Amino acid sequence: MEIKLSHKICLDPNYKQEQYFKQACGIARFTWNWALEEWNRQYKSGFKPKAFELKKSFNAIKKIEFPWMYDVTKYASQQPFIHLQTAFNRFFQASSRYPQFKKKGHHDSFYIGNDHIKLDGKRIKLPKLGWVKMREALRFSGKVISATVSRVANKWFVSLNVKLYQAPNSCDSQAGVGVDLGIKTLATLSNEETFEAPKPLKCFLKKLKRMQRSLSRRVKCSHNRHKLRFKIASLHAKITNVRQDSLHKLTSYLTDQFGGIVIEDLNVKGMLSNRKLSRAIADLGFYEFRRQLEYKSQLKGNYLLIADRWFPSSKTCSNCGQKKEKLKLSERIYYCSACGHEQDRDLNAAINLKNLLYQSG
Ligand SMILES: [Zn+2]
Repeated sequence: MEIKLSHKICLDPNYKQEQYFKQACGIARFTWNWALEEWNRQYKSGFKPKAFELKKSFNAIKKIEFPWMYDVTKYASQQPFIHLQTAFNRFFQASSRYPQFKKKGHHDSFYIGNDHIKLDGKRIKLPKLGWVKMREALRFSGKVISATVSRVANKWFVSLNVKLYQAPNSCDSQAGVGVDLGIKTLATLSNEETFEAPKPLKCFLKKLKRMQRSLSRRVKCSHNRHKLRFKIASLHAKITNVRQDSLHKLTSYLTDQFGGIVIEDLNVKGMLSNRKLSRAIADLGFYEFRRQLEYKSQLKGNYLLIADRWFPSSKTCSNCGQKKEKLKLSERIYYCSACGHEQDRDLNAAINLKNLLYQSG
């Protein structure tokens, strides 16, 4: 079985390296836009365009018309053609919209193939550039397939695409666990352990709210407004990092300790329509939680059971099995009128989830 993952790592380029990044992004964007324009033009005049043919004609004029492209990795001016073809394939299969032109400041990224990348702990070597510092080492052990350097606000990142080697540390625990994801508490386990949402997250979110309020008061197109938008974007990136980190800790713990894991198939769409909840749910990254849990349990051999979305984990009494018709979100303690059982709402739900392990065999 083959598992591919990507790990996005913050970079610390020096001045020269940053200039290179900007240049390579510019070239990748230019090439994409050139190719798309050419595609549109050919299509309008009755041809059926193909990206590799566009690439051929591009390369034929490159040396004379775009000699400055040779200052950076060749991938910056080659990969966009492959990406364009993929984008059109997706469009033809109706799985995404018509490819769009790229804009500076919105689409700042370029791709590098694995034959031009070297990794060594917390640094990465890129063509014509030397070693660039990374904030952390690659999280997975596997073969690096490609890298994409991109800019988010004023920060640079490299996203490494990795084909994983089979993990040697498979989980041989027989223990089972049910996990209830929450708003206030990140996760409640059926063995009464709880994982809190990381503290800096709350503080960042408060700050974000404040900034967004003041953004709406600023004059449009003003310098100050622009500066603030930049700050908001980098705060968003920080929040994502903190959240990713806490989710990785949680999912690694679960897959290391428990051979059987049950989670809910959250009806995220339905929940997102509830505006109050939606913010918190998006922040906790339920999708991301499930994604991590899925690949980690594949790697370590855990049995992962995803409960049906209609399974009444919160409404059922974990002691006697009695089911309530209604349970308000404000009722933090589950009280069973049939057997008198009283328990924290989330813990009750987690235990019900764990019990599914034994019902399904
Ligand atoms: Zn009961």
